[in-house]
Amino acid sequence: MILEGFPVGPIQANCYIVGDEDSRKGVVIDPGDEVEKILSHIHEHDLDVTLILNTHGHFDHVGGNKKLKEATGAKIAIHPDDAHYLDKLSESAAVWGMTAENSPPPDLLLSDGQILEVGGLKFKVLHTPGHSPGSVSFVMEDAQIVFTGDLIFAGSIGRTDFPGGDYNTLIQSVREKIFPLGDEFRVLSGHGPVTTVGHEKVHNPFF
Ligand SMILES: [Zn+2]
Ligand SMILES: [Zn+2]
Repeated sequence: MILEGFPVGPIQANCYIVGDEDSRKGVVIDPGDEVEKILSHIHEHDLDVTLILNTHGHFDHVGGNKKLKEATGAKIAIHPDDAHYLDKLSESAAVWGMTAENSPPPDLLLSDGQILEVGGLKFKVLHTPGHSPGSVSFVMEDAQIVFTGDLIFAGSIGRTDFPGGDYNTLIQSVREKIFPLGDEFRVLSGHGPVTTVGHEKVHNPFF
């Protein structure tokens, strides 16, 4: 399996590229910005990216949807409760003094428990609200990896003071959906370094 993670844009949101070595099919999780950089990684691995997975609708995670879709033809997937963000990215970025291009509408709406298959890659969708109403996590069971977006970070959690955010809901999402995955699962967050479920259970001050 090909896995690349790197921060993009002024808020340094982590973008992840996951590819299947046999079929050369791949996905991009959270193309927030710097699509040229994302494309150079895609080309370096000779991948055909067919799916853009959005962990949630904030502009620092989806600001590159439009350019990446134009360059690859990939479909955009997001949970319906966050889809309304996609055509308001330039407005929300402007609030922070930044710029972002609005995203095309989603091609695929995600739901809890859904399995997505791309080449030989399999992602299970978990609805993990709290940071935003439509936040999701993507689980790769075989690789023991979970992409959590802004739900949980190494030693911290996502903000819950944005519209639609809710602290208790976030804590519940982590406890009921992420912790049961198992201590050895690697947590690939929307910002900051990689951690594990086991490490966060013990060391994250919010739990
Ligand atoms: Zn973020
Ligand atoms: Zn966010």
